[in-house]
Amino acid sequence: MRPHALIFLGAPGAGKGTQAREVAKHYGIPQISTGDMLRDAVKRETALGLAAKARMESGSLVPDDVVDGIVAERINQPDCANGFILDGFPRTISQAQFVDRILAEKGEGRPLVLDIEVTEDLLLKRLTGRRTCSVCGEIYNIYFNSPKVEGLCDRDGGKLMQRADDNEVSIRQRLEGYHRQTSPLIEYYRGQGVLLSLNGDLEPEAIAKGLLDYLSKA
Ligand code: AMP
Repeated sequence: MRPHALIFLGAPGAGKGTQAREVAKHYGIPQISTGDMLRDAVKRETALGLAAKARMESGSLVPDDVVDGIVAERINQPDCANGFILDGFPRTISQAQFVDRILAEKGEGRPLVLDIEVTEDLLLKRLTGRRTCSVCGEIYNIYFNSPKVEGLCDRDGGKLMQRADDNEVSIRQRLEGYHRQTSPLIEYYRGQGVLLSLNGDLEPEAIAKGLLDYLSKA
């Protein structure tokens, strides 16, 4: 049986969002991306967005209690009843303990944690080349997966945007934050026996295929 909660772990640019999207589509369960939720709050200029904006643009993490709160609210929505995918959360040990508590309260078993490992050179190209459709959120890359018409989404013609934090200074900060605050989660979940490491240097389609094969047998 597929675990109730799937967690994607990995450095910025590892392809968490791309893989999470595929798995979400396959199982018909929601992909909960804290980065997307926070970017949406920034765009709508809500109190949350205004509080998070500066930290996000500089590439540092938003405080645990703020992110824990939005995740808890989202997980309690009815569409999460059959399971959900966490993409970009947890990113600190404290957030991981928060997820453990929520799953225990709901009477759910342990999550399955998918750690996407990518070499640093490739991460940098993925981040600097990333473009996202402003309409549907489809992810492109000018080096590896460019759209048919430059700057426009193949699916709906939406304008492709570069994220505000995909600049060199923020990227360096995010990678440093990943190594210091998030990579300890690998050992945390390995210790729980719930970690699956994936070779993120492969083509996204190959990673997705391997992952879906694994989940179908899990
Ligand atoms: P992402 O789209 O996952 O790369 O997230 C973009 C930015 O949103 C991060 O650099 C953080 O500033 C913020 N963010 C997203 N998820 C979290 C989280 N779990 N904890 C703290 N900050 C987060």
